[in-house]
Amino acid sequence: MADTLLITRQPHASPTPPHARAALLEDPGFGKVFTDHMVTVRWTADKGWHEAQVRAREPFQLDPAAAVLHYAQEIFEGLKAYRTRGNDVVLFRPLENARRFIDSARRMAMPELPEEVFLGAIEALVRVDADWIPTGDGSLYLRPFMIATEAFLGVRPAQEYVFCVIACPVGAYFKGGAKPVTVWVSADYTRAAPGGTGAAKCGGNYAASLVAQAEAIQNGCDQVVFLDAAEHRYVEELGGMNVFFVFEDGTLVTPPLGGTILPGITRDSILTLAQEAGLTVEERRYSFEEWQADARSGRMREAFACGTAAVLAAIGEIRHNGGAFKIGGGHEGPMTTKLRDQLTGIQRCTGADTHGWVHRIDMEG
Ligand SMILES: *Cc1c(COP(=O)(O)O)cnc(C)c1O
Repeated sequence: MADTLLITRQPHASPTPPHARAALLEDPGFGKVFTDHMVTVRWTADKGWHEAQVRAREPFQLDPAAAVLHYAQEIFEGLKAYRTRGNDVVLFRPLENARRFIDSARRMAMPELPEEVFLGAIEALVRVDADWIPTGDGSLYLRPFMIATEAFLGVRPAQEYVFCVIACPVGAYFKGGAKPVTVWVSADYTRAAPGGTGAAKCGGNYAASLVAQAEAIQNGCDQVVFLDAAEHRYVEELGGMNVFFVFEDGTLVTPPLGGTILPGITRDSILTLAQEAGLTVEERRYSFEEWQADARSGRMREAFACGTAAVLAAIGEIRHNGGAFKIGGGHEGPMTTKLRDQLTGIQRCTGADTHGWVHRIDMEG
C-alpha cells in the first residue's frame, strides 16, 4: 500500500458566492457553517486505500445496512487551521492527530490510514477552501472521520470504509470571552471503563455521554465531569475535554492516561509548557474527595478544562448531588490565562514555536 495517494480534484460547480460567504463568516458559531468541499478516500479489503478526492461537500449515499449505522464503527479527529498575521496558514501538531487516528482505528478494528494520507487530505481541503478561514480570533475547524460503509448485518469488522474530512469556520468557542464554566459531577454515569474505548476518539463514547451531559444542563451546568468506572472516586475528564488542577504551591495536577482517558494533544502541550515554566507537574490520580477538601482549604487555586475546540476553559464552580463549591471565587485564575495565552500564541505564530509544533501549509502545493 502506498503511503501517499494522489488526490483528484473535482471543484464545486457553484461554490458559495463571496458575499454570502462573508455574511456566514461574520458570526459562524461552532459547527453550524460548513465550507464548500470535502475530501473522501475509500478503503476496501481488496484494494486498500484508493479513490482520494477533493470534491463538493454533499450527502453520502449509504446503504441502510451500512455497518456504521448498526454497530457504530466510527472514529474522528478535531484540529484547527489558523491564518496568521503574516497571512500564512498553519496547523498545530497535525501528525499527533494522524497518530491518534491510527490508534483509534486499531481499537475499533478499522483500517489504519497512513499519516501522510491523513495530512495530505487535510492540506488539500484547507487549500481548496482557504477563503473560508476566518481571520482574527476565528479558525477553520477540521473534522476528519472514518465510517464503516459495508452493507452487512453480521457482527465483525466491516470490509469497506470511507475516510472523510469536512471543515467549519468557527469563531471563539466561548462568546464574550472565556467565562468560567460550571461543571456537574455525575454520580450515576461513567464515560469509560478499563479495557473499554475511553482512549479512542470514537463517536460511541460521545453517544454514551449525552445523557450525563443532559443531566448537567438540567442542573444548571455547562459540562459534565466523569469519575472512574471502577471505584467512582477519581476524577477522569469532561465529556470532551481533559482536566487540570493548579495548587497554591504552583503544582499542576492532571489525571494520568491509562486507557480510560482520551490522550488530548492540548493536554500534552500544556504538560510540556508547564514543565518548561518550572511548574511541578504531576500526572496522578486525584479523587473527588480531595477536590472538595482542597477547594475548602483554599489549597486549590485554579481548575481548568482543555481541548482543541475550547483551548482552555476555567472551571469556576462544581455541582454534585451533595452540594456545590467554587474554585478561585468562581473567577479565572492567572495560571489558566497564562497557559492559554502561551498556547494560542504558538498556534497563531505570535509566540516562539520552540518545539516545532506549528505546521505551515504550502498553499500552492
Ligand atoms: C478530543 C477529546 C479531548 C481533547 O483532545 P485534544 O487533542 O486536546 O483536542 C479530550 N477528551 C475527549 C473525550 C476527547 O474526545
